[in-house]
Formats: sequence, structure tokens, C-alpha cells
Amino acid sequence: MTRTDGDTWDLATSVGATATGVAASRALASKQPDPLIHDPYANALVKAVGLEHSIKVADGEQVSDDPMMSTQRICERIAVRTRFFDDFFAEAVAAGVRQAVILASGLDTRAYRLPWPPAAVVFEIDQPRVLDFKSAVLDDLGATAPAGHRMVGVDLRDDWPTALRDNGFDLSRPTAWIAEGLLIYLPPDAQDRLFDNITVLSAPGSRIATEHLDIGDSAQDWAKRLDERSRRAGSDIRLSELFYTGARASAGDYLTAAGWDVTIRTSREAYAANGFELPDDELTTLSENSGYLSAILR
Ligand code: SAM
Repeated sequence: MTRTDGDTWDLATSVGATATGVAASRALASKQPDPLIHDPYANALVKAVGLEHSIKVADGEQVSDDPMMSTQRICERIAVRTRFFDDFFAEAVAAGVRQAVILASGLDTRAYRLPWPPAAVVFEIDQPRVLDFKSAVLDDLGATAPAGHRMVGVDLRDDWPTALRDNGFDLSRPTAWIAEGLLIYLPPDAQDRLFDNITVLSAPGSRIATEHLDIGDSAQDWAKRLDERSRRAGSDIRLSELFYTGARASAGDYLTAAGWDVTIRTSREAYAANGFELPDDELTTLSENSGYLSAILR
């Protein structure tokens, strides 16, 4: 299966299955005796999607002899990632930002589980079938989000700014944006357009957090090695078929040129900030200069 311009999916297929995979890690980490993160909905969401491999991960079954797939490694990896974006929103709220957009939200439940102030308006954007499924399951669970929560089902390669504005997005208010696990699934020009649109929609003082990818021209090799890990673990997901691994602008450089003050946190720094050590494996080493990016619009 290869990517095409207008491809669509649900949470069990194509790029959608990757959202279920990430949620499985959150479910596993949330179940540990002394959990590193707490996502009270991840397990039910993964079970509802019904992908066998993700259910095994969520249930803590040993899916692989790969040391990077041990429960401890999975939990640390997802905790570093989840806490980075959770902390980003906490800091934005503390700074007075009351409008948030979760781009490519997948099975992210931050709209429901973070302590938003009553006046907060939280938008989620993802493909329609992804959001419809998630909201149905969360409704059944009785999960509640702030009154100003809106799910906007639209493709991020299309005219999502119009859909967002039609759903009440306020251009005059500073916004906190996250794009977690999204950029590599967008064609390079769509990534640039995404940042152009975000910049146009952002009042001064707006913030953004996303991944920082710095693997030079090794993206294809990196994706192939991720495939090997996936295959070894019995998963059907082949990231090399879902990623766009061609040359793309660095998100940090692009945002800096567009007027954002960018801060990079490498994976090693992010692990250290959580009291963990970056694993010493080949795949992690390949992407050790990558990590996370946050930025504030001047
Ligand atoms: N942000 C979520 C998380 O970290 O749990 C989900 C990450 S998952 C790896 C990738 C997500 O990006 C999926 O939910 C997928 O539907 C979404 N996505 C990728 N390309 C998209 C597009 N063109 N339009 C809308 N959503 C997209």
C-alpha cells in the first residue's frame, strides 16, 4: 500500500492504525503499578478499534524479543512524548492562552483528560472517520471535555483553516497548537502549507509544539528499520509505506523564518528531563539529534 493524494482511513487502516498503535502504548503505560502517564481512556479506545496487535501491546503481552519493545522501554518512550505535549499545554494555559488546536489528534484524549480552565476552547482536527469513531466511544464512556470543545473532521492537506473557522476558531485569540506524530505523514509541501496556515491563523503570543526531525538523508533507512522492528513484533504497520521520506524543510527553520521563536529539545534531553536514559540502540542513535520543538510567535 502506498500513499496517494486524497487517501483516507479509519483507525484500523493505513495512517489511522498508527494512531491506534500510539494509544496502545499510552494504555500500557497508564496500567502500570506506578504509572508514568495517566490516560484513562486509551485502553477502551484501543479495545474498541479491535486491532489484535495493538490490543496485545495495551495488555502488556510480550510481542517481541526486541529490547526496545519491553514494557519498560515502551512506557518510557511514550511517557517522554506524552509529557512533552501535556507540559506544553499546561504552560500555555498558565500563560493565559485559552484556545487550543490538536492537529491530527487520532486517539489523543487531551481534550478530555487535561485540566482545562472552563473558558478554554479546544479544537481537534483529524480525518472524519477517525474523529467520529473516537467521539462515539468517548461519549459511551461518559467522558467530558470543556464546553468549547469541537471536533473538526477534515483532511490536513485540504482547506482545514476554513473548516476550523466555520467551527468557531477565533483569529484574534492566541492559540496553542500541537502536531504530535503528524509531520512525516504529510507530503513535504503540505507540511510547509500547514505551517503557513498556522502562522496566518495565529495571533501574537500563539505557541506550537511538534516533533523535531533531524536525520539528514537517512529517513528511508530509518523507516525501513522501524519496519523491521514492527515486523519482529508481529505488527502489520509498515511505516516506510506511510511516511513521506523525501527531502523536506526543517520545521524549526521554517517556523523561525515565519517569525516564531523556536526551542529544540533533543530526545536525549527529553529523556534526561524525565529522569530516564536514552536507550543505546541503533535506531535511537540514528535519530538522536531529533526530538521535540516548541515555538512562540513574536
Ligand atoms: N497525534 C496522535 C497521537 O500522537 O496519539 C495521533 C498520531 S498518529 C501517529 C497520526 C495521526 O495523523 C492519525 O490520527 C492520522 O489520522 C493523522 N493524520 C495524518 N495525516 C493526516 C491528514 N492529511 N489529515 C488529517 N489527519 C491526518
